[in-house]
Amino acid sequence: MHHGYIFRGPEGVGKQRFAITLATLLNCAARPEFKFIDGCGTCPSCHKMQTLQHPDLLIVEPTGASTTIKIDSIRQVSKFVRNHPYEARYQIIIINDAHRMTKEASNSLLKTLEEPPAWVRIILVTHRPNQLLNTIRSRGQFVQFKKLNEKVLMSLLNKAHSDVDRQTKELAIKLAEGSIARTISFIEDGVLERRDLTYEVLHTLSADNPKTISEAAALLLKSKDRAHATEIVDHLQLILRDVAGYQMELSRTENPLIKNFAQNSRFDALCDLKYQVDEAKNMINRNGNTTLVFEWLLNEFADTFQQKTKQRVTT
Ligand SMILES: [Zn+2]
Repeated sequence: MHHGYIFRGPEGVGKQRFAITLATLLNCAARPEFKFIDGCGTCPSCHKMQTLQHPDLLIVEPTGASTTIKIDSIRQVSKFVRNHPYEARYQIIIINDAHRMTKEASNSLLKTLEEPPAWVRIILVTHRPNQLLNTIRSRGQFVQFKKLNEKVLMSLLNKAHSDVDRQTKELAIKLAEGSIARTISFIEDGVLERRDLTYEVLHTLSADNPKTISEAAALLLKSKDRAHATEIVDHLQLILRDVAGYQMELSRTENPLIKNFAQNSRFDALCDLKYQVDEAKNMINRNGNTTLVFEWLLNEFADTFQQKTKQRVTT
């Protein structure tokens, strides 16, 4: 074991969970040296580690309204390592969102990171390793975490949310970009309702009494939140993919809206629309005005999905 690790990789893939698992394993009372890959889970040490109650575990992270880890928190670390462990083999320090340490905090951590007492193990957890000071980066050993694949996400969901239907799970996984935390938040947050709303709004653009583009944009942008806007664009992207897939006979669907969109649009225009969806996402990420972006994008969708009927929607 190295004395200092930097766990880096995308958000929500289990870096913090793994840090706790490692802390549990290192101190498990039942562990014959180098034999197990996990703690026993039942000894007092494992129990205290897993419930974060262990006196030899210190977790540091931004607290309250603060978005940074300040020097006071790191002083606590120096104080913590000065004493021998109460009862564990190793004192474990986990610094979550380590890139949020202020410069003073980082500098204060350097000494501990450089020459920690023999019984100390430090784990920095970050999804933005480039924002760590070089001096911090050079003193830790990197462990790279990756996005989780769909199979792993589904098996985790089957354990955590066995009551949720498969369609919702599959949709959440498609949108979550390999993050179990995002997958779960999509499910708990009603992802299917927002997908259905997106369908409905697209449909009303081509109905007999079409909604105006700005009415449609307002319906989709109920929340001013940028994450919400990005999610709706992701739904539009998936719908577009389904329409194109159906046109190319790569996928089947019983969804009458997808069939209808596919019958009324030209394939080359669907391809163009894909680039416009990507561009819309970029604009939202670059702090563009979400209402304007949505009005523009919905206009493009309305045009594309009505090419063969030549209906126009007035704005
Ligand atoms: Zn144990």
